[in-house]
Amino acid sequence: MHNKSLSELSTSLHNGEFSSVELTQHYLDRIAAHNSSLNAFITVTADRALEQARAADLRLQQKTAATLTGIPLAHKDIFCTQGIRTSCGSKMLDNFIAPYNATVVEKLNAAGMVTLGKTNMDEFAMGSSNETSFYGTVKNPWDTDRVPGGSSGGSAAAMAARLAPIATGTDTGGSIRQPASLCNLTGLKPTYGRISRYGMIAFASSLDQAGPMAKSAEDAALLLNEMAGFDARDSTSVERDVPDYTASLTASIEGLRIGLPKEFFGEGLDPDVAATIEAAIKTYVSLGATVKQISLPNSHLSVPTYYVVAPAECSSNLSRMDGVRFGHRCEDPKDLLDLYQRSRGEGFGEEVKRRIMIGTYALSAGYYDAYYLKAQQCRRLISDDFKQAFNDVDVIMGPTAPTTAFNLGEKNDDPVAMYLADIYTISTNLAGLPGMSIPAGFVNGLPVGLQIIGNYFDEARLLNVAHRYQQATDWHQQIPADFN
Ligand code: GLN
Repeated sequence: MHNKSLSELSTSLHNGEFSSVELTQHYLDRIAAHNSSLNAFITVTADRALEQARAADLRLQQKTAATLTGIPLAHKDIFCTQGIRTSCGSKMLDNFIAPYNATVVEKLNAAGMVTLGKTNMDEFAMGSSNETSFYGTVKNPWDTDRVPGGSSGGSAAAMAARLAPIATGTDTGGSIRQPASLCNLTGLKPTYGRISRYGMIAFASSLDQAGPMAKSAEDAALLLNEMAGFDARDSTSVERDVPDYTASLTASIEGLRIGLPKEFFGEGLDPDVAATIEAAIKTYVSLGATVKQISLPNSHLSVPTYYVVAPAECSSNLSRMDGVRFGHRCEDPKDLLDLYQRSRGEGFGEEVKRRIMIGTYALSAGYYDAYYLKAQQCRRLISDDFKQAFNDVDVIMGPTAPTTAFNLGEKNDDPVAMYLADIYTISTNLAGLPGMSIPAGFVNGLPVGLQIIGNYFDEARLLNVAHRYQQATDWHQQIPADFN
């Protein structure tokens, strides 16, 4: 059951081969068997899931079901889920029961999907390894001594071990694509504004975007169909029609123009990962694509720019976690200042504190022009590079991450080494462009992701380009031996 695609599951549910309750129970059993070794879920909502599954079965019987009705999914614990703890991987929100649903959750509920639970993540989505979570490290199902990537590492581990048929993630600097790469998944970060951010706990509001983490491009397209769309409650949501993302999946890619930025293949890229990516590009050429070397000359500015912009925005967004309006409150505060200081001091972890301090510094009077303003100017240069590149090519390809999954603990004492895990993904967020990671092969038994970046709102093309590759290869169908 757990190797079926979403459309196969949908067909089986509609034909009555099995019920949503049976399917949901199958996944709940897998979670019960494997979650203790992976730590992929923070919260499992078994009773609610079965209740949703019963309602889905009714819709299926009454022939009022939609394509995804009755299919279970896992939500990253950054999405507010009414009546269910929404921790964002933090101690700060350990006891936060969301009073409303995020738009994404609302839409997927309305489609009749079944929520299995909330997946582990780096604290407030800050991290590339899922080691900053208050709920403990998540293990990579391909090698449990290694990280699954982050910050959507719980969704990635759950998907790789087939503990859910599909999951949601969010990507501020790479958090869908990098864990997808490390766990052999298809992950899509759409164009900024494509999916509503309402009810998605904000990290860096000008960069955050939700997206699907899936077994295949076809599955990702089906979920994106439901996730995307305008929402008046998110002021940066874009009012633009949602195409049927499955409609053009099989279109020919004959003549597709692929750009390969030389900056994505330089120093720091593991040679075996580079060889795997080059082999994937050859497959594209055999499918009729043409390849062109391009340059994104300001790429080297992306990590430093991000680490001014993202901390600046998070320092502002996290100011609401003060023990009064939201979040952990310390015991017996002496006065208001003591309440703020101890609540925040106790509630936040080390990485989050580091970001708040950097961000507050960068925004403070006297430094604003030197750091924040400068970073915004660099951000424009990075966007302009892409604009220039898309005059000549249809998509840009390269590695998603410089290496395969690294060992647990390996980069914990060196924040900058950790930040470099996102060196190829961050510029996409700074420009607001859509990007994907798809399975492209293995190095020493560990997955390698190919990144595909598209022009604004070109998600349908990205999915088409990914799907054609997945019809020609079977990397995406490989699953780790212990989780068959
Ligand atoms: N790893 C990056 C960070 O720590 C990106 C995280 C994300 O995309 N949420 O900021």
